[in-house]
Amino acid sequence: MTLNWRVCSRARLSRDARFDGKFFIGVRTSGVYCRPICPARTAKESNVRYFPSAAAAAEAGFRPCLRCRPECSPGTPAWLGTPNTVARALRLIDEGGLEDGGVEVLAERLGIGSRHLRRLFLRHLGATPSAVAQTRRLHFAKKLIDETVLPMSQIAVASGFGCVRRFNAAIQATYHRTPTQIRRTAHQPAMQEKNQYLFQLRFRPPYHWKGMLGFLAARATPGIEIVEHETYRRSIALNGACGHFEISSNTDSNSLIARIQFADPRWLFAIVERIRAMFDLNADWLDIAQTLRSDPVLAKYIDAAPGLRVPGSWDGFELAIRAIVGQQITVQGATTLTGRIARMFGKPYSAGAGLTHLFPTPEVLAEADLTRAGLTKARAATVQALARAVYDKKICFREILDSQDFLARLRELPGIGAWTAQYIAMRALGEPDAFPVGDIALVRALQLADARQLEARAEVWRPWRAYAAMYLWSGSSEKKIRAAKRQHSAKKRRGRTNQGSVPV
Ligand SMILES: [Zn+2]
Repeated sequence: MTLNWRVCSRARLSRDARFDGKFFIGVRTSGVYCRPICPARTAKESNVRYFPSAAAAAEAGFRPCLRCRPECSPGTPAWLGTPNTVARALRLIDEGGLEDGGVEVLAERLGIGSRHLRRLFLRHLGATPSAVAQTRRLHFAKKLIDETVLPMSQIAVASGFGCVRRFNAAIQATYHRTPTQIRRTAHQPAMQEKNQYLFQLRFRPPYHWKGMLGFLAARATPGIEIVEHETYRRSIALNGACGHFEISSNTDSNSLIARIQFADPRWLFAIVERIRAMFDLNADWLDIAQTLRSDPVLAKYIDAAPGLRVPGSWDGFELAIRAIVGQQITVQGATTLTGRIARMFGKPYSAGAGLTHLFPTPEVLAEADLTRAGLTKARAATVQALARAVYDKKICFREILDSQDFLARLRELPGIGAWTAQYIAMRALGEPDAFPVGDIALVRALQLADARQLEARAEVWRPWRAYAAMYLWSGSSEKKIRAAKRQHSAKKRRGRTNQGSVPV
């Protein structure tokens, strides 16, 4: 990736948060690397170097700044221009793909040679895959030292160093301080309950939190997910352990606050990465908006709701089930049915205040009689077929290398058509260009005649068609709500209204 130094320089001098995480600044005089928003006095242009990733700055011998804490910057944008391979490789590294087997195995799984993978990484991120993975490990360890009270031995394991000796050596080499010295200077929250962790997850502004919450609220599965008081909560199960988390927003610090309750700290990294993906925190919204603005209808929606993201999902299997259940019925109907499935087949989980179950596992749903929950025979068969395929490991929602191939396999199941597959690609795989072409609401939102016209119109929105779909969906539901309210107050004026009859 060739950084445009003029853009970088302007962003650095104005401490522009919209560029946070898109590049890093190495300061020759101090030997540290910073985020564009660093509060320290800005260095002279001749004394700085720009890097496309934290790993590249580290490879060039710079240490992370202790003031702006590069480990807290928003993630690298998922889309780095042309090669999807780099984005996929990054996703695999996030999911721990470099822990077993190293670069050779990673490259093999991506279907390319390891030398080619290295070249791609160097071109786009300025660092090798192993340097990127090492920087991620270090950054996460630093976050755990700063933001939790976990013992160092557990941090060593949770951040992927394996043993304390390796962890101590890496921290010392990078920060010129021991982990204990770093913790002494950290501003820790006063109280931390057992197994509870608090993380600030940064994003590049703007972020339309209300839009994200509104979308999730309408689809929140009763007993599993709750949206209230501007927060999102849900129960989770991972590798045999369970817990829950709560997300709220703090616009002052351009971050979401994640409060995680989980018994096994070894999985914290995976949980945090999944939350980041679910709330689309790595998106480079400026870039996205620039492309979509070329369509006048989208431009209007973008101005009305800047920073809208594509809501992802905690678990791909759960989202796919929900998508199948929701075929050809209303959002509300699907929410009720999914809640019933969760209650009848999910494991009870008690976290108080409405979280009562864990989402049922593939193993259970493969054998369950779903017509008892109110599903039609055909829909029940589709859910069961998917559950069985996941249980038999024929379909796996993690570590997907080739989404086209994955979607093709998904569509081989009875009852999964193009719309469902694209919706799953959008929300479970985080494919920014996924697009449910046959969606009637999208066709109507643009006042087009049919899906073919929609597909043609959407060509110029690439590679961000998923974001366009979100804008059109939320724009048209806003319109519906406004129209319903208008109708309601008109009726009220005429004195013929029944309480609670607003059709929204
Ligand atoms: Zn700094």
